[in-house]
Amino acid sequence: MLQITWTEAHGWKAPAINPLGPLTLHPCSQVLHYAIECFEGMKAFRGKDGCVRLFRPDMNMHRLFCSAARIGLPHFDKVALLECIKELLRVEKDWIPSEEGFSLYIRPTMIATDSVLGLAPTKEAMLFVVLSPVGPYFPSGLKPIRLLVDTKHARAFPGGVGNNKVGGNYAPTLVPQKQAAERGCSQVLYVLQDGLGKGGLVGEAGAMNLFVLLRSTNLNEELELVTPALDGTILPGVTRDSVLRLSKSFGNMKVSERQLYFNEIEDAASEGRVIEVFGTGTACMIQPISGFVKEDGTEISLKFDSKAAEYWLRKLPGSLSNCN
Ligand code: PMP
Repeated sequence: MLQITWTEAHGWKAPAINPLGPLTLHPCSQVLHYAIECFEGMKAFRGKDGCVRLFRPDMNMHRLFCSAARIGLPHFDKVALLECIKELLRVEKDWIPSEEGFSLYIRPTMIATDSVLGLAPTKEAMLFVVLSPVGPYFPSGLKPIRLLVDTKHARAFPGGVGNNKVGGNYAPTLVPQKQAAERGCSQVLYVLQDGLGKGGLVGEAGAMNLFVLLRSTNLNEELELVTPALDGTILPGVTRDSVLRLSKSFGNMKVSERQLYFNEIEDAASEGRVIEVFGTGTACMIQPISGFVKEDGTEISLKFDSKAAEYWLRKLPGSLSNCN
């Protein structure tokens, strides 16, 4: 594991690569009480050419920097941290799988280690990076999932920290997630009342960004790929950005980052205009979605096009990465 410690008095110490092992923390460490913690999730892939590629790591470095800044954790040099991670990968290169669909998951994390029982900006922090080889999300092929439309719990809200990858955003999603599972759904779709009485705004599907491919009602039946805009409640997903860029480059559909009301999906589904719905994220890459269950039990089933999802899965890892 890579470990780098920081103090307000002396800044960042020299980075060290140590054997993976437990951390020793004072029980008053701020991270344990106030969740002063942020993290990233990224992957390294070994290509058919044997070359190891990180998938757009500059975006993860930037997001970690923004998350840390939002909760008062120290700034760091994004380029230098990436160099340290590359060195860790060189040390652990034998753990980077070469089979198709496999990769090395990388988890950079920053925690406040100052041992004061008081909510104050931290004077001590630790940045560490751990690794784990991971296999295909679904070894037996793509499995579409259903989402429970949740209007009662908010994952994120205007003025909050939904656009940051801070630990405090995740623990409160466990209970809604369990409730979704009890109703036969694999994930929650967070839908937030807009405050204008116009209905519920679509947010994220658990820890994935949501995409909907719609056929418009106009005469030329234009296709529109929609994902909620980055309004502060949405995590700026790296996979989201790649899907947006790639789909814009295809030139055969309108690509929109905009407000998306759940009513719009419901209406389009009842008119047969929902072509595809999927979630995106580093872990699953592309997760096809086959339907929604509303709180009143109403089900909205969608046709699942495995070809479209498989196309994306093949397209993504090779795209937009450089051989490092
Ligand atoms: N939304 C949330 C809340 C997440 O935790 C993640 C995973 N990082 C994503 C979306 C997907 O982001 P990415 O494509 O960068 O993994």
